[in-house]
Amino acid sequence: MKFIILGIIIYAVYFLFFRKSSLKKDDKKLKDSETVVECQECGVYTSVNEMILRNGKQYCSKECAELK
Ligand SMILES: [Zn+2]
Repeated sequence: MKFIILGIIIYAVYFLFFRKSSLKKDDKKLKDSETVVECQECGVYTSVNEMILRNGKQYCSKECAELK
């Protein structure tokens, strides 16, 4: 019985810690993706972190960047 309670406590602590750290990650992700740019090929808005710069133009993906 003791082991079950201990297991639940460890799980609860781990879950809380994991949830907290994942929330922190989301916050950081939101902050980083605040600036969005429009893809020159398809018009999709992409965060500056994920965009691809090619010939001075911004693209949402490699596929778009390589179309022209
Ligand atoms: Zn695109």
